[in-house]
Amino acid sequence: MLEISGLHTGYGEKRVLHGVDLTVGEGEVVTLLGRNGAGKTTTLKAVMSLLPAMEGEIRFDGRPLKKVKTYDLSALGLSFVPENRGIFPSLSVRENLELTRSTRREVADGWTMERVFEFFPRLRERLDNGGSQLSGGEQQMLAIARGLLLNPKLLILDEPTEGLAPIVVKQIHERLMELKKAGLSILLVEQNFGFATTLADRAFVLGRGEIQWSGPSGDLRGESEIQHRWLGV
Ligand code: ATP
Repeated sequence: MLEISGLHTGYGEKRVLHGVDLTVGEGEVVTLLGRNGAGKTTTLKAVMSLLPAMEGEIRFDGRPLKKVKTYDLSALGLSFVPENRGIFPSLSVRENLELTRSTRREVADGWTMERVFEFFPRLRERLDNGGSQLSGGEQQMLAIARGLLLNPKLLILDEPTEGLAPIVVKQIHERLMELKKAGLSILLVEQNFGFATTLADRAFVLGRGEIQWSGPSGDLRGESEIQHRWLGV
């Protein structure tokens, strides 16, 4: 579904990625792990056409994304939940969700507001609250809900657990597990090793701008040397 091959990118003169290869298959959950500053967010930015690929290629459903603009990616089936969650603080929960209307991919049996509230009942209770009044966990739920309303084929999440209390992390884990069971493909960037490796089928470890290890998540849990060297676990 998603194929990143030989990706080089960075910021101006500064190269951050030196040939990254990563794939996400249909119905698969994949996690990209690495230390702070390894280039995980940079990889996602390249997928979302927020940074140009200096070398290499990114394909989605076989189609090269090089010339596709960020705002056209949701129509192809890519949904991105950024690290800062991208909630509009002055808009209500309802308004934040309604913003997806113009860019969503129309599919039969897609996500509706009602379905989103069944999935995250807390959001229904907070419907008319402003984005800035929400807790961190509620904001993350809203950000994921917004991503789902676009009816993605692939949901991309950048550090969804960042700054959240353990109980909320557990709730988010449980919700993502539910999406996985329903067959949604997910690409997850995380710092929380346990969260990521218990959710993902496969893991990629990024270090020095390249993939240093990849394989089944269960195998990575047994690789203490790799964990220590590239993740500081
Ligand atoms: P983190 O967990 O801290 O978000 P990360 O693996 O996502 O880490 P990136 O945010 O991709 O890392 O950053 C990779 C490198 O690129 C870092 O050295 C960072 O300082 C640099 N970098 C990130 N954004 C920019 C930018 N806008 N301009 C210049 N350099 C940047």
